[in-house]
Amino acid sequence: MARKSLGFVPLVWECPSCKTQNPGPIKSCTSCGAPQPPDVEFQLVEEEKFNFIKDEALLREIKAGPNIHCPYCGTRNPATNKLCLQCGGDLSMGGETRESGQQVKTVREAQSEAQSSPSPAASPEPAKSPSRRIWIFAIIGVIVITLCLVLVFTLFLNTDDITGTVTSVQWERSIIIEAYTTVTKEAFIDDIPMDSDIISCSQAYRYTSDTPVANATEVCGEVYYEDTGSGAAEAVQDCTYEVYDDYCEYTTMDWVAVDTAVASGTDLDPYWPNLNLSLDEREGSSQESYTITFSGDGETYQYSTTDSQLFEQAESGSQWTLSVNQLGGVQSIEPAN
Ligand SMILES: [Zn+2]
Ligand SMILES: [Zn+2]
Repeated sequence: MARKSLGFVPLVWECPSCKTQNPGPIKSCTSCGAPQPPDVEFQLVEEEKFNFIKDEALLREIKAGPNIHCPYCGTRNPATNKLCLQCGGDLSMGGETRESGQQVKTVREAQSEAQSSPSPAASPEPAKSPSRRIWIFAIIGVIVITLCLVLVFTLFLNTDDITGTVTSVQWERSIIIEAYTTVTKEAFIDDIPMDSDIISCSQAYRYTSDTPVANATEVCGEVYYEDTGSGAAEAVQDCTYEVYDDYCEYTTMDWVAVDTAVASGTDLDPYWPNLNLSLDEREGSSQESYTITFSGDGETYQYSTTDSQLFEQAESGSQWTLSVNQLGGVQSIEPAN
């Protein structure tokens, strides 16, 4: 997400000595003259939320970076100062830079926090851990899954061998016929093949970018305020950019399935259907399926396969060994000796 700066708003700080609220840029208390200690927070006055600072000199000082407290007298100094404006002390030797980048509280939030500061003894007992209930569900889950696996095994995988006699056979082979013809498709404008005819286009959502993009729709989250450490806060939003593009209907030439040729029979000589292709047609994908019907133990069993070599051995009346599961499904077959 892109960080979007809306501007800078003034903050206030409360003098710990005399409780006076001072404007953020003021570095010593306007009432008692005490310098602002490093541990006093800047706060946001609710009404000043969108009261953006316009004074150029003040903006330059804010953008220069967080203020530095003098190591000798504690006075707040602009980041650009080398020597303390109060006592002339060297700020590069042990000067304390104010914290910056943290979200600022409003004066009201800070006051309600101070009133309801929790006493450590009254911290609520953590609720009885839900882990016991989770464990019970987990155990029940494992039991259910195990039972299902046992059921699957007994019904599908646990097979008996049965001797079956071939009573009938059936085969079918099919080939899809494709024609080179005009088709209508949809795509974004730069994905459309060169020799296509565009019918119509409209703007459609394509993707979301984390960085600003020309002609995109900007989607921003709520405004929040970050302390600059210099008596002001930067009003910031996190934004993404929804990119729209021309999405078009177009016609082009392509291979399309137009017909299916099918051959079928009830003998052991399967063949592929004859194709009478015209110049703009071609052979598409093909399929084959073979079904053998057996009788055994007074029941009828069917087995389907795509293996033509296995099928061609299924002479009428021949004996086969069938693997049959508990649901009567034939899992595999092989000729009996
Ligand atoms: Zn004061
Ligand atoms: Zn100083």
